[in-house]
Amino acid sequence: MQSLWNDDEAAQFPGPIEQRVYTSRLLGRAPDLVLHGGGNTSVKVKQTNLFGEEEEVLYIKGSGWDLETIEGAGFAPVRLHPVKRLASLPLLSDPQMVSELRAQMLRHSAPAPSVETILHAILPYTFVDHTHSDAVVTITNTIDGRERIREIYGDEVVIIPYVMPGFDLARVCAEIFPREATANTIGMVLLNHGIFSFGETARDSYERMIALVSRAEAYLHQKNAWALPEPTMMLSGGGALRLELAELRRDISAMAGYPMILHSYRDASVFDFIRRGQGISERGPATPDHVIRTKRVPLWGRDVKGYAEAYRAYFERNAESAGAPKKMLDPAPRVVLDPVFGLCGAGKNSKEANIAIDIYRHTIEVISRAEALGGHVPLPEKDLFEVEYWDLEQAKLKSAGKPPVFGGEIVCITGAASGIGKACVDSFLARGAAVIALDIQPQIETQYDRIDYLGLVCDITDSEALAWSLEQGARRFGGLDMLVLNAGIFPGGRLIEALSDEEWQRVMRINLDANVALLRMAHPLLKRAPKGGRVAVVGSKNVPAPGPGAAAYSASKAALNQVARIAALEWGKDNIRINSVHPNLVLDTALWTDEVLKARAEHYHLSVEQYKRNNLLGVEIKSRDVAEMVAEMCGPLFSKTTGAQVPIDGGNERVI
Ligand code: ZN
Repeated sequence: MQSLWNDDEAAQFPGPIEQRVYTSRLLGRAPDLVLHGGGNTSVKVKQTNLFGEEEEVLYIKGSGWDLETIEGAGFAPVRLHPVKRLASLPLLSDPQMVSELRAQMLRHSAPAPSVETILHAILPYTFVDHTHSDAVVTITNTIDGRERIREIYGDEVVIIPYVMPGFDLARVCAEIFPREATANTIGMVLLNHGIFSFGETARDSYERMIALVSRAEAYLHQKNAWALPEPTMMLSGGGALRLELAELRRDISAMAGYPMILHSYRDASVFDFIRRGQGISERGPATPDHVIRTKRVPLWGRDVKGYAEAYRAYFERNAESAGAPKKMLDPAPRVVLDPVFGLCGAGKNSKEANIAIDIYRHTIEVISRAEALGGHVPLPEKDLFEVEYWDLEQAKLKSAGKPPVFGGEIVCITGAASGIGKACVDSFLARGAAVIALDIQPQIETQYDRIDYLGLVCDITDSEALAWSLEQGARRFGGLDMLVLNAGIFPGGRLIEALSDEEWQRVMRINLDANVALLRMAHPLLKRAPKGGRVAVVGSKNVPAPGPGAAAYSASKAALNQVARIAALEWGKDNIRINSVHPNLVLDTALWTDEVLKARAEHYHLSVEQYKRNNLLGVEIKSRDVAEMVAEMCGPLFSKTTGAQVPIDGGNERVI
């Protein structure tokens, strides 16, 4: 484990709180220390209040902040002494603790202080760092974990048995720590949970964390438990998996009660673990706070029903003995291990699905190394249940709010690098959908850098490329719910007598044939969409009201329009809706070069400005207007409409 401390960087963080920010970010950059919001840090400072009195204040990581990206505002300032005193109470309920911590805050806009605040308060050091280090957890998750930790660290760490995080853990530490800490003590190991380090400077505390964890890693090396087994299994399945993935996603979504994104991750070490790891992984996760993201155990294979039954039984077994009445969470798996798919993560959006995968990749390492050390022994399920159904964790999940309208859903948009297509990408992302964006322009790959966006270079007239794109989309997100047929060309004014076969065929190939092929290929995926499939076709005013000089374009769009109507007839039984928009004069698109625009305006004896607003309402139609209409057509407003055609043209006499 390497220290990431850098003097030049550190110099840009003057003062104790800034230093706290700096080393917190260093910890956050190491995924084998903290993952996705895990871990917490604090600093104790003396401050003068409004009355000129000196107060000791604990700045503790606020809930909802990630160490990797934390800022000063991410730390909640609380009065140190009253918080420390709480640890001497024999009992404090979670709601009481939350209320007391809030009441001791010194900035009303600060985030809620971490649930480990009292624990940080009682440790008599200026800087305190806490991580869920993979290496430390690996060692403590063994039958003789405590002895091994003692052997590695001697009296340099105080060992705390597993206790549920929150007040109970703080109380136990307040009892054990002063009794067992010596002059040599620089850290504290919480069995089956993680490790603390502390120091008088941010650097000391951080470097001690690195040093302590490095010793755990060295121990694993020395016991031949570091190197993971050499994968013996070849990667399976170069073939098409998209239908099977879409089926699994449909089953998981049905069990969860809402659509879910299903990411898949395939590498040799995953397949190797799948070959040997089932019995081990069914014992439980690496550390209890992972159950919130991964549930207690993964689904092996694809029997979602069987998984849900086992989950219900687990809930019933443990809910009885829980203090307060509990309401069962959805019984759908969050992690799937399948001999063909590899590792899949399910979540209500791409971010969550990806977190499940990240955590499980680390879990595979932790479990494999603990096995090499003598056997992975996670906590009993009762303790895991307690964390999974802990009110404070549930509250965190609930505070995420109402999901967006396309949360957990996937859309594929063609011609997505510019104009209406790009505007559609924005409209669907804004509604929470994961987007598969296709375009022949290479910028499609990099136009967004986000986990819910997959940009693929694709010539839609190449049906192999289309199939490949749908396959990539399914491997990344799990299937397809919505399809926006937008790509098209408008070759400019050409009278029929001057229209070549080549041009006619090229327009038909792109505007018609490619879309028919894509509809055909998307159908089995759309049929498996958890909430029913939806198709939106970007047509043209030229369908109901053609103009001279655009025979190929108008004919191709009219034919596509007819195909869409027939698809609506054929696919209603599959719960797939298909509707069209007919935009006119959307001038902020690639079709409308200045040259074409000028020529068309002249044709109607108008200035370009007049031409732009040449409709009954006198409004200019923008790509964004069309994109918003397309997105709404895929949403609940249009849930009982199929086969419809909606003009978006500011009102056109010929269309009306
Ligand atoms: Zn922790």
